Amino acid sequence: MKTKYFLYARKSTENEERQVMSIDAQLVELAEYAKREEIEIVEKFIESKSAKNPGREIFNKMMTKVQESKNPVGLLAWHPDRLARNSIDGGQIIYSIDTGKISSLRFPTFWFEPTPQGLFMLQVAFGQSKYYSDNLSENVKRGIRQKLRQGKWPGLAPFGYINNLKTKNIEPDPVKSKIVKKAFEEFAQGKHTLKSLSERLSFWGVVNKAGKPMVKATLQRILTNPIYLGIIVRNGESYEGNFEPIISRTIFEAARKVLKQRARPRKSKKRHNFPFVGLLTCGECGGAITAQWAKGNGGLYRYYRCTKKLGKCSQRYLLEDLLAEQIKQRLQKVALCENWTKKMLAKIDEWEKEKIQFSQSSAQNLNLKIEKTKQKLDKLVNAFLDGTIEKEIYLVKKDELIKTKTELQQRKSDFKRKGNNWIEPLRNWINTAYYAKKIALSKDFMEMKSLVEKIGTNRRLMDKKILFEFIKPFNLIPEFKAKIGEISERSPAAGGASEALNRPKESQRLVWQGRQDSNLQHELLESPALPLELRPYA
Ligand SMILES: [Zn+2]
Repeated sequence: MKTKYFLYARKSTENEERQVMSIDAQLVELAEYAKREEIEIVEKFIESKSAKNPGREIFNKMMTKVQESKNPVGLLAWHPDRLARNSIDGGQIIYSIDTGKISSLRFPTFWFEPTPQGLFMLQVAFGQSKYYSDNLSENVKRGIRQKLRQGKWPGLAPFGYINNLKTKNIEPDPVKSKIVKKAFEEFAQGKHTLKSLSERLSFWGVVNKAGKPMVKATLQRILTNPIYLGIIVRNGESYEGNFEPIISRTIFEAARKVLKQRARPRKSKKRHNFPFVGLLTCGECGGAITAQWAKGNGGLYRYYRCTKKLGKCSQRYLLEDLLAEQIKQRLQKVALCENWTKKMLAKIDEWEKEKIQFSQSSAQNLNLKIEKTKQKLDKLVNAFLDGTIEKEIYLVKKDELIKTKTELQQRKSDFKRKGNNWIEPLRNWINTAYYAKKIALSKDFMEMKSLVEKIGTNRRLMDKKILFEFIKPFNLIPEFKAKIGEISERSPAAGGASEALNRPKESQRLVWQGRQDSNLQHELLESPALPLELRPYA
């Protein structure tokens, strides 16, 4: 029997407002998608309440119906982040997939397969789309991008410039720009350290909000800010500014060179010897963890310990090798093996292709409609000019057509904007998890430290134990590994396990492998490279 679908659409939260399609737009897109893919929708669930209201009545109503339905149903939504707002909602849906109540999930923007990897990705999409959009939220604000394209500085003028309210751009401040120029020149000539430059600026009347000379970090930012070359850098992307530069490229580069030279001798050799300094704080007193050499057992060893500067603390030393060993073990928990990494990356490539195809065909479709509307408008104007229609009718019709055209154009730009938002973060995440595997097997303590800094939070040292939590979405990997372990533990439990519990194992693996040759399947099943906890069969 053909699966029947529930359609679910949800309004954006206040924060998302600018980035996500309106409900109307979602419904239009979904209707077209359903038609194209021959998806039969039996009921629509539309949540229009503001996100300020914590409960989601309609979502809960839908999930109840899912549970009550005799036959498994499918769900159709614009993107997983529309369907599940957080990992709790996501958990409900995944549970319903596990128990066979939901047989299919369809999203025009995300393709889901009921394989272990598919479920894993889905979990990520549920819990993390917010995380992804948070990362992107700042740079997608339409007004800002518009300004950037026009080479206008979006916001308060940086030091040396002033905002011109008429041109909505910035221009050199007659006095401050000269000070900036002078500061750059003197620094580029090697006349100053950051400290003496800060004093010089203070002499010229340039101080921070507290009326004190600027701190080094601020100066450093000024001396490296490409805005003074007339370049706007925003989220790693450069835009040519449509305003006057204050500094020439030569001076800018010279200043940068001096800055580099000045920075070099400050890196002490000692710090390099202690790769984990700065990574942890004391779990007992919250003090900083420092390192030192100490003699013991006839050799010299590196130890880490609490500085105990915050008061009484009973914590003792920890040997560096033991510390590193613990970190390796923790990293293993988020590590993805080569096998899974390859497959997931291949899947992501496939998704990307499909997404591109989908947005291309949608864009084409929209272009066609826009073109038609233009033609209609053209005809209408001609008819009016020829005197074949009356002015009143003309005005009403014209308004209608213009409205349609703007709507279509809006939809088109919505499409472009949302693009492949989630693809790149997902890919980075998989790559990082694979990198964790490599690092966990290496002796590169510096890399270990920077990786843990990147993916670990609340990092403490307590009773010779390293404690930290993985940030999202890395925390999902241990959870998922545990889940797979759970499934495989439960199912062989003689007779106790239900069909539903057994079902995911074998079929999922085969679906994932579906289009590959049998040798590969064999290799995957037998592969010793696959860590035990990732093997559903283990
Ligand atoms: Zn302490």
